Amino acid sequence: MSDRTKTPAPRTPAAKTPAAVTEPVSARIRARIQKAKRRFHANDNISAFIHEGELDALQAEVEAKLKGVLESLVIDTESDHNTHETAKRVAKMYLNEVFHGRYHAAPAVTEFPNVESLNELMIVGPITVRSACSHHLCPIMGRLWIGLMPNEHSNLIGLSKYSRLAEWVMSRPQIQEEAITQMAELLLDKVRPDGLAVVMEADHFCMHWRGVRDNETKMINSVMRGSFLKDQTLRREFLSLLNLKKG
Ligand SMILES: [Zn+2]
Repeated sequence: MSDRTKTPAPRTPAAKTPAAVTEPVSARIRARIQKAKRRFHANDNISAFIHEGELDALQAEVEAKLKGVLESLVIDTESDHNTHETAKRVAKMYLNEVFHGRYHAAPAVTEFPNVESLNELMIVGPITVRSACSHHLCPIMGRLWIGLMPNEHSNLIGLSKYSRLAEWVMSRPQIQEEAITQMAELLLDKVRPDGLAVVMEADHFCMHWRGVRDNETKMINSVMRGSFLKDQTLRREFLSLLNLKKG
């Protein structure tokens, strides 16, 4: 029998690392989410399913996969000093910076009872928005305004907290329409106002950098809830105060 026809030695399972050790951390996290029957779309927060210490392991896993992407792009990451650490930098940026709001719990927000029974239109904004589109993972940069109509049962939150909550929702791969709906639901839950309006105006870099390469297009959309839906005058007052064109 020649060497060529020799059958390779069968791989013994014992020679391999046990499956429990080689299973990627993302698979463990995914299994927990699926067991709880929860959604894990790009703009969902999954922090409740990530155990202590797993975020570092997840970052290492993402880094290894990104290294594979660079390899497939035929980039010599070994001798190119510019890309040598790129996989590591991007993994860190995704998990701890630009997609922070997907992997980390919501910021602590203290709510105060509305002791003064404020019931006048309140506008917060513009709040700077930094996000990325789920379609291309390209940046989305924009501004957000919040209109609130409190009642005597509403909770008030500090001004800076609106920015923190917006940042938490936006630092995930997002779709603008879904992002402002998530923002509205979160504020309805925290503040419990009579009415709520959220308006966002943003530049989508996937439109500037690729595709139509249109530098002028901005996307503006809004969500109205409660009294903002019913009361046209309130809605008009809010929108006229935004002055979207300036800024
Ligand atoms: Zn896009």
